[in-house]
Amino acid sequence: MSTGNTYDVVIIGSGLGGLCSAVILSKEGLKVCVLEKNRQLGGSLQIFSRDKVIFDTGIHYIGGLDEGQNLNRYFKYLGLMDKLRLKKLDEDGFDKISFYNDEQIYSHAQGYDNFIRVLAEKFPGEEKNIKRYCEKILEICSFFPLYNLEDGQKDLFTANFLEMDTKAFLKTVTSNEKLQNVLAGSNPLYAGEADKTPLYVHALVVNTYIESSYRCIDGGAQIAKHLSDTIKKQGGEIYNYSEARHFHFSGDQIKAVQLSDGRLIEGKKFISNCDLAKTLDMIGPGHIRQAYRSRISNLENSISAFILYIVLKKGSVPYFNHNLYHYDTDDVWDTLNYTEQNWPRGFALFSQYSSRNPDNADSMIMMGYMNYKDLEQWSETVHIIPNMENFRGAGYEEFKERKAQQMFDALYKRMPELKGKVESYYTSTPLTYRDYIGSRDGTLYGIAKDYRDPLKTFISPKTKVPNLFLTGQNLNLHGVLGVTVSSVVTCSELLGQQYLIKKIKDNS
Ligand SMILES: Cc1cc2nc3c(=O)[nH]c(=O)nc-3n(C[C@H](O)[C@H](O)[C@H](O)COP(=O)(O)OP(=O)(O)OC[C@H]3O[C@@H](n4cnc5c(N)ncnc54)[C@H](O)[C@@H]3O)c2cc1C
Repeated sequence: MSTGNTYDVVIIGSGLGGLCSAVILSKEGLKVCVLEKNRQLGGSLQIFSRDKVIFDTGIHYIGGLDEGQNLNRYFKYLGLMDKLRLKKLDEDGFDKISFYNDEQIYSHAQGYDNFIRVLAEKFPGEEKNIKRYCEKILEICSFFPLYNLEDGQKDLFTANFLEMDTKAFLKTVTSNEKLQNVLAGSNPLYAGEADKTPLYVHALVVNTYIESSYRCIDGGAQIAKHLSDTIKKQGGEIYNYSEARHFHFSGDQIKAVQLSDGRLIEGKKFISNCDLAKTLDMIGPGHIRQAYRSRISNLENSISAFILYIVLKKGSVPYFNHNLYHYDTDDVWDTLNYTEQNWPRGFALFSQYSSRNPDNADSMIMMGYMNYKDLEQWSETVHIIPNMENFRGAGYEEFKERKAQQMFDALYKRMPELKGKVESYYTSTPLTYRDYIGSRDGTLYGIAKDYRDPLKTFISPKTKVPNLFLTGQNLNLHGVLGVTVSSVVTCSELLGQQYLIKKIKDNS
């Protein structure tokens, strides 16, 4: 059943990458259509509410939003900057890092001079090394032109840092092991792995937050709302409950995508914002070489997480304007290696900022790494409210409750003052993320980059099908900035990079 429309561009998935691409292309007069399998748009920008409290699912804070900074300029072009409701995190400590055996709390401050000053207070004698670290971060970022809203390409592929491991690099910065760990303390922002995560991933992520750090007031879904309003205003169409299943071809080109309810959506070009392997499944056999399919399908994803969503008793906990990364080990890189007994070996704790109750924390979100394989026995179950409400079983509920209690034990050990202040709590697992986002394994950030073979994990927006393109966190980099840049990379394939960058610069 065809809808009778032929779109210039059909975008599959309404994650940040899909929505930004749709804004850019519809602004240029192209007729776009966004297809989203869920009710709520936004992918990881989605929020949910329990006991009248809003929880973010995948955006806890955003960097680079001060005037003149990279994301600020991209967001101005996308029409977001004057609409977003934001709360700047503490200048002298947007991230706080702590360890089980150390009473000190180490702060990451905003602004490079401030970052150096605040850390040097805790590590007297290390100021020079911290400065050298910052210089390297800035040098690496300068190699990525689009990250800095510049056209052109530096000779990235010969850059020596591409094949540098983050943990190994930090050892060259200082012999002070605590400082090495503090510098890597926000490691859950990029699911960093020892002897794997390239230094450029660490650099691009930490730089954006050191530049400036903001929380979305009442959650990050506002980004999806404003982007989708703009798409519609520019003549684009967005359909939720529209799950893409497979492509129909005419010769070597895709002519339509078939949805799970049988509808056929025709287009001249297609952009997939979905899991890479699942995108290839939609192509079906015969249209791409097996070698390409195997290369993409065999790329490893970054780890997933178990998340505890805590509703606090009204007025019992003051709002805290920073994020906490706490470690139950001396080595922040070791938190991925856990056993049933010692899990979680570290956690990230975020407070939500609510406009209704700005002085108090209504809620907190606590995140600990978890492997998909821990949930394998329930992998055949699917649960997406409200269209697929399958009960995963009592065993799954018991597992979640056990993990929630382990989380609370870790939380109370670090912050005993929170005892008695929890009203209620909810949890999500890697299966929740798998089902809502449509990845294979609930991955936090998509394809895990690897310094040992950097080119293998660089995903091009072009595919072996001439009119199929990719966007989203699997390209370049994850996160709000990374994905926004990815959508520019993707749209550059359709509009021309020089042309698009000029437009963005002129409008930011
Ligand atoms: C727990 C967590 C915390 C995070 N915290 C932060 C943070 O604090 N700051 C930050 O900058 N970033 C953070 N991130 C990362 C950031 O949220 C993501 O990198 C980004 O939102 C991903 O955008 P995307 O375009 O790749 O789309 P995704 O969010 O991956 O969305 C893909 C969309 O495609 C849809 N889809 C999938 N298959 C189909 C299909 N067959 N048909 C139709 N639709 C389909 C999905 O339903 C989904 O809506 C976090 C991520 C997670 C998971």
